[in-house]
Order: sequence, then C-alpha cells, then structure tokens
Amino acid sequence: MAKKKIAVIGIGKISQDQHLPVIDKSKDFELAACVSTRGIGHGNVPVFKTPAELYAAMPEVGLVSICTPPNVRHQMVREALDAGKDVLLEKPPTPTLAEFDDLVAYGRKKKKVLFQTWHSQYNEAVDATKKILKKEGVTSVRIDWRESVRKWHPGQDWVWEPGGFGVCDPGINAMSIFTKIMPFPVFVASSKLKYPANRQTPVDVEIVFKSGEKHQPKLSAGFNWLEESGEIWTVSIETEKGTKLRLERGGTVLVVNDLVVIQNKSEEYEGIYDRFAKLLKKGKSDMDGAPLRLISDAFFLGARENVEDFNW
Ligand code: NAP
Repeated sequence: MAKKKIAVIGIGKISQDQHLPVIDKSKDFELAACVSTRGIGHGNVPVFKTPAELYAAMPEVGLVSICTPPNVRHQMVREALDAGKDVLLEKPPTPTLAEFDDLVAYGRKKKKVLFQTWHSQYNEAVDATKKILKKEGVTSVRIDWRESVRKWHPGQDWVWEPGGFGVCDPGINAMSIFTKIMPFPVFVASSKLKYPANRQTPVDVEIVFKSGEKHQPKLSAGFNWLEESGEIWTVSIETEKGTKLRLERGGTVLVVNDLVVIQNKSEEYEGIYDRFAKLLKKGKSDMDGAPLRLISDAFFLGARENVEDFNW
C-alpha cells in the first residue's frame, strides 16, 4: 500500500531526535514537507514558513504532526482541521483543559482523526505493569522524575514562560504512565511548586494524590529539573498482594521483587506512529486528557515557594 504523506510542523529538538528519523524508517508514512519558522528542513522535502503556506501549496498532504511548544497548538490544530488534515500532536497537548476539550469537540465536528500522543505509554513494561495492578491492586505508588533541563531543553526559554509547564513538561510523562496503569481513578490532594524567582514555571514539584479507595493507598510524585547525575525516571509500586514493582528508565524497564523481568530499548515513537497508522485505518481519534488534568490540578492546588534564580 502507498505510504501516507505527512508534514512535520516545528523542527525543534523532538522532531529532529524522534519524529523525522522514525518517519524516515516508517512503512506507513512518507515525509512530504516541513514547516519551520527558521526554515529548517529534512532530506529533500519542501520547507514552508507557516502551515497555511503548506496547505495552499501541497493539498495532497493529508496528515500533520505538530511538534511545537504547547502554547501555539490550539490554533494550529484548528487550522489543520479546517484544512481537512488528520493530526498527531506532541505532548503536553495544550496549556489549558478548555483548549484541549475544544480540540476534541472540533475534531469530532470536522470528522478528522486527532491523536494526542503520550510517548511514555508506548512501552511493554508499562502495559505489563497495568496488567499486574489490575490483578493485584495497589497500596502505594511513588513517582520520582528527575532530569536536567539543560540537557533535555537546552536554551528553550518557552518552558519557563506561562503555559510552558516548567518541570511538569517531563512530569506529565510520568502522569501519562500513572493514569494508564492505575486500576482506579486518582486525584491531586495537594502540591508544592518551587519557582525560580526569575521564572514563571516551577523547577521542582511535589504532589500528593488521593483516591476513592477504602484502603487509602499512598500515592505521591516528585519532579525535579536540576538533576545533573543522569535521569531518574522511576515509578515504585507495592501491590495489595505485597509484590514490589519498579518501572525504571522512563517505563522501559520493569523490575518485580528486585528481578528485572522486562528490559527493552526505547521505541516509543515507533509505537506512536504505528498507533497513528491504525487510528487512520479505522478513522478513529484518540484524545486522552487524563495526564493534563492531573497536572492542571497540581497547578490549581499548588502552594508556591520561590527559590534561587535559574540561568542557563
Ligand atoms: P524545541 O526544540 O523548542 O522545538 C519546538 C519548535 O517548534 C521550535 O524549534 C520551532 O521550530 C517551533 N515553534 C513554533 N512556534 C514556536 C513558538 N511560539 N515558540 C517556540 N518554538 C516554536 O522544543 P522540543 O524539545 O522539540 O519540544 C517540543 C514539544 O515536544 C514540547 O511540547 C515537548 O514537551 C515535546 N517533547 C520534547 C522532548 C524533548 O526531549 N525535548 C521529548 C518528548 C516530547 P521551527 O524553528 O522549526 O519553527
């Protein structure tokens, strides 16, 4: 079958690290164009400064992958839907739930496929954990998500602007695992947000969650963006049966009672594009807002503390 023509919008770090190389290898998709305000391209495909220029010049391109920061997505997705495109979105979806809900409704109205990606969910270890928790229940979850903003978002000032999420930009990946694996609904009970005095988004976040479960499982998460010793992306869980699980390395490794049972290399973006191909075949959208809802509530309930300035 002929490959579907796709354009990538926003040629920054994640497009260059993942989207473009994965599309290059894909059996389902063919890169047809790039949209880049800085004029950055890939291979020999045409480069447009704006999505509108792409839509006018190449109407045969039916799909777009939107890889910009979240604060410009709402308008970009609507514009893509108006142009009759099916749309894949990077995470986090939008800066607000109202914008997210509007996109879900607008996608339905336009009868196009909208796919909100959560890359950390595309791991066998995450799926296996979900199955175990469904069977054994949960008594505690502790999430530790620590990394270096200088390594993962070098020079990206948008992450420190309102709507840029701060350390909740990676933290929402942990929430996408959390909401996927939990066998019952979870809610934010309280949160503490530490803001560099010279920035508008937090560098460190601690969240306590609650649930409606009678046995009151202990649930918490900590995100930090100044970890220079390497990434700590771990979810530690104890089940009601007493099994101790650890999802490590962002969800690629599963350790059960100190034994490594799954250890895969990360193929999250391959998983995302496989899923997009399946959704397109079925004409179905997948817009999961649960991780954004938890992060939004953590901001809403957050006690703020100012800490020392952050400079690159
Ligand atoms: P980035 O390097 O800053 O790239 C974003 C690109 O979007 C820019 O380079 C720019 O590309 C374009 N853009 C369009 N409008 C923009 C605006 N108003 N402000 C800034 N850039 C604008 O960021 P990124 O790290 O790729 O992150 C993009 C999205 O991917 C974020 O939502 C992030 O959470 C997600 N993500 C990032 C990583 C990571 O490792 N960094 C991992 C997974 C997911 P042009 O110059 O080509 O227009």
